[in-house]
Amino acid sequence: MSLIEITEVKKRFGDNEVLKGINIDIAAGEVIAIIGKSGSGKSTLLRCINGLETIDDGSIQVAGAQLLPDDLHLKALRLNVGMIFQGFNLFPHLTAGRNVMLSQTMVKKTPKAEAEVIARKMLDRVGLAHKFDAYPDQLSGGQQQRVAIARALAMQPMALLCDEITSALDPELVQEVLAVVRELAAEGMTLLMVTHEMRFAREVCSRVVFMHQGRVHEIGPPETVFANPQTPELRQFLGMH
Ligand code: ADP
Ligand code: MG
Repeated sequence: MSLIEITEVKKRFGDNEVLKGINIDIAAGEVIAIIGKSGSGKSTLLRCINGLETIDDGSIQVAGAQLLPDDLHLKALRLNVGMIFQGFNLFPHLTAGRNVMLSQTMVKKTPKAEAEVIARKMLDRVGLAHKFDAYPDQLSGGQQQRVAIARALAMQPMALLCDEITSALDPELVQEVLAVVRELAAEGMTLLMVTHEMRFAREVCSRVVFMHQGRVHEIGPPETVFANPQTPELRQFLGMH
């Protein structure tokens, strides 16, 4: 059974149709890379999946529950699907630990003591147990992004959506974040990640989705998509990377 079922999803901004009928079924434990040129609709697709954008047509189901554009439902959905962005979006006036505790106590109403236990566990999972009391500006970009991952994990999501999470990092910090993602993948987390890290996609992902002009232009295992692209658009895209 699919964990995330995306069926004929369409999304427009004004007269700009950004998603033109997307179909992807994602099984639990799958790790999917989404690649494609800037403007092809990758971020919009992720934002639709966790309800940051409403869809105009089609349907998205997460764990069998239909995504409907009402508030209560979206809240439930966001609890199930975590999202991590290019910018780390940590609260600068809160320590790493408090950042990881906040959505637990605010959204899930987890008691503070329990939220702290979970925060320490999740920071440990991303290799930052010793940074519980550090403020974001005392952390490197890679460490801040790992705190953001810990914060998402603290909500115990069924799937994690990652939108170019290493793109804002200095090159020497990229690998430490990818190492964390690699570990999550090995532990069976369902991951959907927009990435430019082709080597990582090849090594870690079960499938690669190539988006082009709001459509899934090619989809398949990395061996096929990278070694044997079927369309000139994908060949050209891979040539640039
Ligand atoms: P990608 O992540 O692949 O670069 P996006 O999903 O960000 O692409 O954007 C796809 C298209 O949708 C672009 O043409 C972009 O300008 C447009 N777009 C994205 N978000 C909005 C928005 N909130 N309002 C209007 N247009 C948007
Ligand atoms: Mg984007």
